[in-house]
Amino acid sequence: MHAEIKQNLLDLEPEALRGFFTARGERAYRATQVMRWVFHHGVTDFAEMTDLSQTLRDSLLPVAEVRPPEVVSEQVSADATRKWALRLHDGNCIEMVFIPEPERGTLCISSQVGCALDCSFCATARQGFNRNLSVAEIIGQVWLAHELLDDHRAGSGRTISNIVFMGMGEPLLNFNNLVPALRLLVDDLGYGLSKRRVTVSTAGVVPAIDRLREAVDVSLAVSLHAPDDALRDELVPLNRKYPVAELMDACRRYVQGDRKKFITFEYVMLRDVNDTPGHARELLKLLQGMPAKVNLIPFNPFGGCGYRTSTQSAIERFRDILYRAGTMTITRKTRGDDIDAACGQLAGRIVDRSRRFRRFSAPRFGETRC
Ligand code: SAH
Repeated sequence: MHAEIKQNLLDLEPEALRGFFTARGERAYRATQVMRWVFHHGVTDFAEMTDLSQTLRDSLLPVAEVRPPEVVSEQVSADATRKWALRLHDGNCIEMVFIPEPERGTLCISSQVGCALDCSFCATARQGFNRNLSVAEIIGQVWLAHELLDDHRAGSGRTISNIVFMGMGEPLLNFNNLVPALRLLVDDLGYGLSKRRVTVSTAGVVPAIDRLREAVDVSLAVSLHAPDDALRDELVPLNRKYPVAELMDACRRYVQGDRKKFITFEYVMLRDVNDTPGHARELLKLLQGMPAKVNLIPFNPFGGCGYRTSTQSAIERFRDILYRAGTMTITRKTRGDDIDAACGQLAGRIVDRSRRFRRFSAPRFGETRC
């Protein structure tokens, strides 16, 4: 006899959770009660959900569970950035990073196991792609981080104030699981975060940018990294499918009709590759008329990658050109690089590397490796 596979309630956005209860002959507000326990109090054990009747708690046990990923290891950087490796039910591992700052605490989460996009300067790309994360694996990272930082009981003064999808993977290529997770982040019964504090970062999946706008209101960051197609084709191969002009049009549509909206453009600073004054001026032209902020990210090196970080003076010169033209520009401080937690350094372990790695008969990482 096979045990029934339990429904992980972390896989269900608010509407779906209400549906789960009504389909079982229960009132829809049970969903509200359960969400409060899970997301506001960090409780996963039905036995502790004391405002549900004993009968309901007993009936949930065999059919449902609240199951986040498992923590395998934690590293703390000299600058207090923390990185966790998380193990998924199939042995895959992903990474998640918490970056404390005086005014905010940013949690950087993953959306896929590995990444299929193959950006030439990113460590995650090196490991290939295995699969999309489920809703439970995405929102489960946030649940876990609250637990690990003792944030579930912190009330309004929560440590985690911002969530960014800048960990492993391309969130917009996992659209169907991304959107419910985003809804749980902004819903009052979930984490109740404002749309300004939830940022999806994309390498530029143009059709999904339009769909995102229709589905849920959150902030968008675009990993631009080059102002022209020739260079961007090289750095971000997805550009061959969705070239710069199409991407910029999608960005314009994303902010259309909401004067408070802007796009954050991420631009990794690679020495002598994309960091000259000419590149800065081209970038300025591209951003004309676009409500935009630019984040310059000093390149974080990793083993076997030929790029070098731009010099401090090249970064400052680049920033000044943008800044003087009135473009809000900040240089992102490198955080957590001593524990490989900085942008582009996340590289959990994946159990089966598909796509381009298959032909090299790469060594398979065992389930116990992470
Ligand atoms: N796939 C998404 C989100 C993941 S990467 C995206 O492309 O936006 C998060 C950010 O880190 C992106 O802007 C990415 O280009 C940048 N990044 C990747 N590798 C990097 C590296 N080695 N140094 C600095 N930034 C890097």
